[in-house]
Amino acid sequence: MSKSGSTTARRRRPEEIDGMVSKIISGAGKPIGAYTIVAETERLGAPMVPTQVYRSVERLMAQDRIERIASLKAFVPSPDEQSVYLICEDCECTRSVPARDIVPSLAQVCRDVRFAQAKAHLEIVGKCDRCSGGDRA
Ligand SMILES: [Zn+2]
Repeated sequence: MSKSGSTTARRRRPEEIDGMVSKIISGAGKPIGAYTIVAETERLGAPMVPTQVYRSVERLMAQDRIERIASLKAFVPSPDEQSVYLICEDCECTRSVPARDIVPSLAQVCRDVRFAQAKAHLEIVGKCDRCSGGDRA
């Protein structure tokens, strides 16, 4: 009557799942999509099904622990301060730069049109220096 035999369908607590998903996202070093997270849990020997990962990223976003990069349908750890994400449309490299100088102006724009801003998530799509040939010369 061993209960710990099967590891594939073991029920895990949400906190345990969130901890693992959060660690995978932090360790990726770049935006990572839900299916890549699923593959990574398999590689780590603690497989999760896509619905577990989807629910987990929803919880982690609600707790402000991760952010979704909409242009890439991928996730990154939340930065320490409000940032703008710069996403290369060619190589999909992503970097975040502090947005402290523009956030107040955007908040003012929202107030001007009586829009109650809940959260600002800013993405700019373009070409990184390498893909635009910026490091020539
Ligand atoms: Zn690029």
